[in-house]
Amino acid sequence: MTERPEQTQVVVVGAGPVGLMLAAELRLGGARVVVLERLPAPTTESRASTLHARTMELFDSRGLLDALGPVPGDTRGHFAGLPLDFTLPGSHPGQWKVPQDRTEALLGSWAKRLGADVRRGHEVTALTVADDFVEVEAVGPAGRLRLRALCVVGCDGERSAVRELAGLDFPGTDATRELIRADVAGIEVPDRRFQRLEGGLAIAARRGDGVTRIMVHEFGRVAAPRSGAPGFGELATVWKRVTGEDVSGGTPLWINAFGDVSRQVSHYRAGRVLLAGDAAHAQLPIGGQALNLGLQDAVNLGWKLAVQVARKGSAGLLDSYHDERHAVGRRVLSGIRAQALLLLSGPEVEPLRAVVGELLGSDAVRRHLASTISGLDIRYDVGEGAHPLLGRRLPPTVLETAALGRV
Ligand SMILES: Cc1cc2nc3c(=O)[nH]c(=O)nc-3n(C[C@H](O)[C@H](O)[C@H](O)COP(=O)(O)OP(=O)(O)OC[C@H]3O[C@@H](n4cnc5c(N)ncnc54)[C@H](O)[C@@H]3O)c2cc1C
Repeated sequence: MTERPEQTQVVVVGAGPVGLMLAAELRLGGARVVVLERLPAPTTESRASTLHARTMELFDSRGLLDALGPVPGDTRGHFAGLPLDFTLPGSHPGQWKVPQDRTEALLGSWAKRLGADVRRGHEVTALTVADDFVEVEAVGPAGRLRLRALCVVGCDGERSAVRELAGLDFPGTDATRELIRADVAGIEVPDRRFQRLEGGLAIAARRGDGVTRIMVHEFGRVAAPRSGAPGFGELATVWKRVTGEDVSGGTPLWINAFGDVSRQVSHYRAGRVLLAGDAAHAQLPIGGQALNLGLQDAVNLGWKLAVQVARKGSAGLLDSYHDERHAVGRRVLSGIRAQALLLLSGPEVEPLRAVVGELLGSDAVRRHLASTISGLDIRYDVGEGAHPLLGRRLPPTVLETAALGRV
């Protein structure tokens, strides 16, 4: 162990998309930041593949879209598997298809370019919170590392070590329903978007390379706690029961299971310890909302924390991170739970699906749901006032100035 701890201003734990976005935002605000990441190399799993309008606007405002390159966008999305048109006013309406490893690569190189110190292969194992500093201990390639900082932010995912080490509660419910998903080579099944069959829900999409992503939920099957990914045999059995098709001869390339867990920390900030992304909220990953929610946590927190540590800002500003993002997270998680109930319940939910399907024909309902999922309707509570933009994002606007003309 080193005699004296290294010093920085902020330690970010986790170099997933949220930790990398936060590190870059902290650098933009002038704060010194070290990111500690357990994995020696970035994950290559595609995971969340949707960026929503609000995130695209944020990436645009940071000049990141050119580096992201061409991105297929589509205004056709869904709410609980019911078609939902995402056409809305704004610069990037719709859903933008970007595999998560590409988003992470973009944010990783941006954070490093801005001067974030990203250290891979470092697993955080201990945390000490004192009156005027935090000390984070990690095990890395060169042994134990001690880092002293003004604050630590856990961006270390659903099973957050920072959350555990700081003793922060994580109230909510565990998953009771589960989807099993795999990328499978060598199978021939019909493409299905969200097909509700008698015994369950089946989704299948064949990619250009011949690999098919299949996803299945069997109505009424209670999710048991898992210690790892399910086997392909289990998936093939459930798929057969739900669709009647035999995929057991295929070759699985990636399998995982996920469920309708819904948990949110009571406080996004406990003194010098903060949480963002999946570390602060766990949810069914439907429609990329978890990723987008987390990226927007990072943007809300980054500049406030930078002001706090680099320029000794007021604690009230930093507390507004919890006030604003906990409320947004609560609402998003509630919408995700509603979608999970509509999508993963058995035939008894059909009458309700029919009513919701009819309501989606109303433009006001369509716009309401599309704006919520896109993150365009967020309104932070910033006090009394009548202006329609109070607490909202400034929509993309053309400015005309004498010096610059139209920008
Ligand atoms: C297998 C899988 C499939 C998914 N599929 C989808 C999907 O299809 N659609 C969808 O919308 N969402 C999906 N998600 C969810 C989505 O990926 C997350 O919402 C998103 O990654 C959250 O980003 P994050 O940065 O908060 O956390 P993560 O991406 O989980 O990043 C956390 C990082 O912290 C690191 N870490 C953890 N503990 C420590 C420690 N002690 N010390 C140092 N580093 C640590 C981890 O290695 C990881 O890199 C999936 C997630 C997983 C895991």
